[in-house]
Amino acid sequence: MTRQIASSLAACVHCGRCAESCHYYLARPDDPTMIPVWKADQVRRIFKRYVDWTGRVVPGWVNAWGPADDDDLNRLKDVVFGTCSACRRCTLNCPMGVDTALIIRFARGILTELGIVPEGIFNVSRDQWETGNQMAVSEVDYGETLQWVKQELQAEMKDSAIDIPVDKPDCDFLYVINPREIKFDPRSIAHAARIFRAAGESWTLPQKGWDMTNFGLYSGDDGLGGWLASNVYEAAARLRAKRIVISECGHGYRSTRWEGFNWAGVDQSLPMESVVVTLDHYLKEGRIKVDKAKNPEPVTFHDSCNIARSSGIVEEPRRVLRRVCADFREMTPNRTENYCCTGGGGLLSMQEYRPLRLEVAKIKAEQLRATGAKLVCTMCHNCVDGLSDVIKHYKLDMKVVQVLELVNKGIRG
Ligand code: SF4
Ligand code: SF4
Repeated sequence: MTRQIASSLAACVHCGRCAESCHYYLARPDDPTMIPVWKADQVRRIFKRYVDWTGRVVPGWVNAWGPADDDDLNRLKDVVFGTCSACRRCTLNCPMGVDTALIIRFARGILTELGIVPEGIFNVSRDQWETGNQMAVSEVDYGETLQWVKQELQAEMKDSAIDIPVDKPDCDFLYVINPREIKFDPRSIAHAARIFRAAGESWTLPQKGWDMTNFGLYSGDDGLGGWLASNVYEAAARLRAKRIVISECGHGYRSTRWEGFNWAGVDQSLPMESVVVTLDHYLKEGRIKVDKAKNPEPVTFHDSCNIARSSGIVEEPRRVLRRVCADFREMTPNRTENYCCTGGGGLLSMQEYRPLRLEVAKIKAEQLRATGAKLVCTMCHNCVDGLSDVIKHYKLDMKVVQVLELVNKGIRG
């Protein structure tokens, strides 16, 4: 229990304004269980029953309640894991400042500790505990993948000096990535390496502590969250990097940049930034030259919840996209009011909640379709998968791309 959780549990006045913020409710307006305050109240009732004095003295008066058996706990699990992507859109629109997503995460953490947790969240958390990365990539696979990405890039660019350094000390920055880049999309590492080379950058990946993603954010397990973030901080300290640059990942950025040191209880003063901020600086400083004619298709930008709403990065990706794309167009709503890709909060790993996720994704599908864009760009690997599911399910004529990909394509020379 923290001050933020306690005040969010106590401050709700049940005005119902959060309803219209939630894509679950917007897609299912006749279902009151989709309203954020209803979801939070399933946790709030337990808080009242065991902590709040009115609930302990007169439980019936304040609707206090405590789970009696596994069935009650499983029902609570379905609410907090299955009907909320922890997008925090309701949080931003609550006049009382109630952070419903924080309440949801708090309940997830308690259920995780009790072992009442969706199998997908359990499996990925276990892999991250055991191997230090969420896709259980072995050290050999990590090294071999980086090696062949480097060789292919050198051959393609006819430049044997292009490097993907690992564990190089005293660089300007340590680059940390999402394991999806090693396992499913190594192109993004190649794009980054080529751009860093063009900018004359001094950078390195670490041998250990390279995964900046964090299932502790999704499961509510602060122990896991703090340990994973510490791995990154320790790698940067060990290699004496001057700052940490985080590749395109929403929850990984938020966990590493804002939450990790609190979960771990460590002092982390090394500067950290998203790679999109790094790209924005390169363009401003003229360190890379681009030509927007190389990206002629209409492109829109999807703000990742953890990047825009929870981390405040909104203008940097737009500045970059306007420089490298000939036809950039906003979706509505956008920036901190954007709708979730529908796969946030770990939902992509929870197959049992997929039918509901895709049903409520009709809000996202309508928003994407209205742009008329052929490409939707996002700076989050999780959103790539979430949006790809929406596009496929609703048969949209669109493709998902990332900022590094468009900048790489737009580079001159
Ligand atoms: S969470 Fe905020 S917006 Fe929602 S009912 Fe409570 S006070 Fe109103
Ligand atoms: S955090 Fe997002 S998905 Fe969860 S209740 Fe709030 S608006 Fe709905």
